[in-house]
Amino acid sequence: MKKPATPPPGQAGLLRVVLPVPLRREFDYLCPLPLPLPGCRVRVPFGNRSLVGLVLSHPEHTEVDLARIKPVTAVIDTCPVLGKAERKLLAWAAQYYLHPPGEVYFQALPTLLRKGEDAGYKPVEAWHALSGDSTTLSRAVKQRQAFELLTQGPMPPGELAARGVTSATLNALARKGLAEKRQTLPTPTDWHGEVTINEDGKPRLTTEQALAVSLLQQAEGFSPFLLEGITGSGKTEVYLQAMEPVLKAGKQVLVMVPEIGLTPQTIARFQRRFPLPVCTLHSAMNERERLDAWLACKDGSAAIVIGTRSALLTPFARLGLIIIDEEHDASFKQQDGFRYHARDLALLRARQLNIPIVLGSATPSFESLHNTANGKYQRLTLSQRPGSATVAEHLLLDSRHVQLEAGLSPQLQQLMAGELEQGNQVMLFLNRRGYAPVLLCHDCGWLADCERCDAHYTWHKSGNRLHCHHCDHQRAKPPHCPQCGSVRLVGTGLGTEQVEQALAVLFPQYSTIRIDRDNTRRKGSFEQHLEGIRAGKYQILIGTQMLAKGHHFPDVTLVAMLDVDGALFAGDFRAAERLAQLYIQVAGRAGRASKPGRVVLQTHHPDHALLQDLANQGYRHFAHTALEERRRAGLPPYSHQALFRCQATQGEACREFLVPLAQQLTPALPATVLCLGPFSARMERKAGQYRYQMLLQANSRRDLASACRRALAIADTLPAARRVRWSLDVDPQELW
Ligand code: ADP
Ligand code: ZN
Ligand code: ZN
Repeated sequence: MKKPATPPPGQAGLLRVVLPVPLRREFDYLCPLPLPLPGCRVRVPFGNRSLVGLVLSHPEHTEVDLARIKPVTAVIDTCPVLGKAERKLLAWAAQYYLHPPGEVYFQALPTLLRKGEDAGYKPVEAWHALSGDSTTLSRAVKQRQAFELLTQGPMPPGELAARGVTSATLNALARKGLAEKRQTLPTPTDWHGEVTINEDGKPRLTTEQALAVSLLQQAEGFSPFLLEGITGSGKTEVYLQAMEPVLKAGKQVLVMVPEIGLTPQTIARFQRRFPLPVCTLHSAMNERERLDAWLACKDGSAAIVIGTRSALLTPFARLGLIIIDEEHDASFKQQDGFRYHARDLALLRARQLNIPIVLGSATPSFESLHNTANGKYQRLTLSQRPGSATVAEHLLLDSRHVQLEAGLSPQLQQLMAGELEQGNQVMLFLNRRGYAPVLLCHDCGWLADCERCDAHYTWHKSGNRLHCHHCDHQRAKPPHCPQCGSVRLVGTGLGTEQVEQALAVLFPQYSTIRIDRDNTRRKGSFEQHLEGIRAGKYQILIGTQMLAKGHHFPDVTLVAMLDVDGALFAGDFRAAERLAQLYIQVAGRAGRASKPGRVVLQTHHPDHALLQDLANQGYRHFAHTALEERRRAGLPPYSHQALFRCQATQGEACREFLVPLAQQLTPALPATVLCLGPFSARMERKAGQYRYQMLLQANSRRDLASACRRALAIADTLPAARRVRWSLDVDPQELW
């Protein structure tokens, strides 16, 4: 072992830094005194590049030869961009997910900060009135009016223009020394101390809600809750009231929502109740907006922060409560790079800060149900909808032996007609966009397959194109079969486009709207469609799961899932859980207002235990049974998994990496750790890449982590590692 080196005292010290590079280590640099505090950014040379790094500590010695340690190029921050609490959270996360620490820390920074920009708000420009002799303006009417406007307070140029004040007028005032344009930094908003709550529209709580609210309001210190409430049972109202004492105490609240749930309505609802600074954090914001919002969380200006997954990694000045709505949603798990689960990290964060956390869902994840059963979380239940809203009736329609028209059985068509005649809306749900998932030649059987994936192209009739939904590749639909020249190319299977077309024929007197990714691409068009539905412009709605989440349509009385049979027999052990969650979510669209609703599931397997259980007993019962199966099979949440994924343009390269990895790892594993594979992905080739995986499973997290560490050490020694792209996913949510 080398002797640790210490820099000569006096002029310089050592910095231990993380860099945004895929290496599982930290780096040491020399820096002139005084040293930047931990959490500050520095610019450093790395190879022949210059990188932004984040200071973690000031070590006294280094294992590296002092002569080879480079000095930092520049110190960027005087104030840490990541505080001690955040650094602790991220350090833990890097350990837990066994991910390169630099990538973990940099994930928590907005892009502009990753690039080394100043950690400051965007300066705002405003015109200010100056004291001076305004009598000279008696004849210049416009200038006088502008001056009087400015004496009431500074005003940004945009607002002045909107009020008809031209820049010529303002410049004239400036020349006379009566006004000037200044750039100022916004000052942090100080909202605590004067927290008022808008009592308008605050309903009388149901007994269940009142109980939940009172338990939440009394919660002290780290206390996790699972709020299990059927759709429309008033979970959001519980969140709103649970937030009151926290905000009144001057503490911030973080509300995490799934990617798709961050709608203007959601934000408006929080804003209406609390006339306080509400800020949002999500991926669709531009870099500048994101940084400003991030700063508002950090300095405490934002009282309420509503955000998607990454909001969890944001620093907060005074965080007092975390709420995770739709906690079962898959979008809380990051699927590339640093593969963290925001819900799991949120629990850790709440524990570190010693604050309450609420996980809410109509269909809690099995992990959370398990944690409730074993007493880690306290359960709050909302089993009823407030007011006169009713719970829907569930029907399984047998689609065997009947003639389906564009996926609709005669019985379903009849049910639809009945509702439509009474002026109600009907919602059809099919999780497949496009016209048909397969295009084939009627004469020779040729199939339109994606060249880059082991998958068929989906035929989109609008635009007359073929689209691979796996790699996004698109091409024109060929006019005839490339194999035999026949023009009889036909689609098989069902997509939303086809159903939409058939509805126009089956129900010509009603108007239909389709909601899927294809026709909501334009910014604002999704909102526009939703508005149209609420206004009663359409009677029949056909859509993918985009339509299933969170929206209120009071006139929908019939909801039908056209085809779930595929999901019943999917390979992934989580498929049943996901199908059940989707089904309950879809079902939740029916009968939300005063009208009773009906939920229809068309299936070729009406006797399937899962469907029977869901339709007749509900989610809780289904989950109970399914969890029992997981327990017997030793699957998560009763065990823990980690997945090594590997991809390359040659399948051989993947095997050359994973096979020796498994071979060298297995003898080193204790009997408590299972190593499965390597095996190929269900879709072996995607976007031109062959994909293989190896699964580790253990009952104890500790055993699993040490097995993973061992595997990582072996991986580093394998020459094939350089010819493939591989990653480790701790607590994977899906197999490939
Ligand atoms: P969830 O989030 O559980 O789906 P929401 O909080 O959105 O449910 O509530 C559904 C609807 O019921 C909303 O329109 C809400 O304003 C209303 N609501 C909630 N609580 C009550 C209550 N106690 N009395 C009357 N209406 C309520
Ligand atoms: Zn052919
Ligand atoms: Zn493809």
